[in-house]
Amino acid sequence: MTARPGSTLSASPIALEERFGAANYLPLPVVLTRGEGVYLWGDDGKRYLDMMSAYSAVSFGHGHPRLVEALIAQARQLAMTSRAFHSDRLGPFLQRLCMLTSMDRALPMNSGAEAVETALKAARKWGYTVKGIAEERAQVIVAGNNFAGRTTTLVGFSSEAQYRSGFGPFTPGFLIVPFGDAAALEAAITPDTCAFLVEPIQGEAGIVVPPAGYLRAVREICTRHNVLMICDEIQTGLGRTGKLLACDHEGVRPDGLTLGKALGGGLLPVSAFLAREDVMAVFKPGDHGSTFGGNPLAAAVGDAALQVLVDERLAERAASRGELLMERLHALAHPAIVAIRGKGLLVGVEIDPAFATARRVCEGLMREGVLTKDTHGTVVRLAPPLVIGAREIEEAVAALDRVIRALA
Ligand SMILES: *Cc1c(COP(=O)(O)O)cnc(C)c1O
Repeated sequence: MTARPGSTLSASPIALEERFGAANYLPLPVVLTRGEGVYLWGDDGKRYLDMMSAYSAVSFGHGHPRLVEALIAQARQLAMTSRAFHSDRLGPFLQRLCMLTSMDRALPMNSGAEAVETALKAARKWGYTVKGIAEERAQVIVAGNNFAGRTTTLVGFSSEAQYRSGFGPFTPGFLIVPFGDAAALEAAITPDTCAFLVEPIQGEAGIVVPPAGYLRAVREICTRHNVLMICDEIQTGLGRTGKLLACDHEGVRPDGLTLGKALGGGLLPVSAFLAREDVMAVFKPGDHGSTFGGNPLAAAVGDAALQVLVDERLAERAASRGELLMERLHALAHPAIVAIRGKGLLVGVEIDPAFATARRVCEGLMREGVLTKDTHGTVVRLAPPLVIGAREIEEAVAALDRVIRALA
């Protein structure tokens, strides 16, 4: 069918998305036109508190002045070169990224999924060229209920039926073990295992925190079996859980690390795969790349984002505000709330499905002026920008209280 713009000029933005877009999302019925700090405004002028921060991409708040300034200044100067040439922005960005995370090297990409794909390519090639696994035999172990992005390879090792259904055949070479079970990981390791890919806290699975000591045990097992420990911190990294990296809660340094989401300062897609020297050394010119990965605009914004993270002590703020959020949520003590999970400002509130779907709770919150998203039908995600104040946290919890009472 041919699009006839004239016939849709007066249609609403939602109607236009529904008419011309793909139905791969089911957004809440709100049309946002402006954002500033922890607040968003709808096209009817209504103000909302953002308790979702675009799945942690907006950790610095909307339109952070320093980040917008860095974006505009760099856009005026030089935005895009490709990696066919050097730019004056990429090196300093990679240095700051490595110094901050204590990793040896970083490879910039754009989306989170690309960073994870990069990690998998590095792990396999390291398996063949360093560990000595026979050609085409490398195995990567992943955790059940993982989320790594939406490419065909990544959904191929998802344990979520809907993410896979209709999209096969999938990339072989992956094995799933239960999340949080270090013994299961050790039992699954064979001489062909090159890496274990794991989220320190599972985000999309419903904010699932593993048992204390899990990451330390995984680190010890991976070291003992010469298997790369690769942590996907695209959602948990950069202060979200109250530490720079969620791995820091257990004092663990992975061999490979993926970052994304907040790395772009809420302005651009910026991701990276970071690794130990001998792992990154597998990449030779021509092995891997990305047209936009590491472009000067992304590097300038990513660099500024890392500086803001440190200067504004956002990890510490996430820790203290997260404690307040947890305390207030626990005080609700409503029977419809069956669990409250998380760390820092990555919190999931599980709603009894017999009471209401998490979607209905989110719709109620929207009417109360609080925006967030359900995960897996039963979990309401509370993950505001890390710059949120104590008063806004109290407001959000009060709104949740009113919504749950009204639904009861
Ligand atoms: C969001 C996410 C990804 C994928 O990032 P995209 O930018 O959506 O491709 C990968 N891993 C984790 C843990 C994530 O939360």
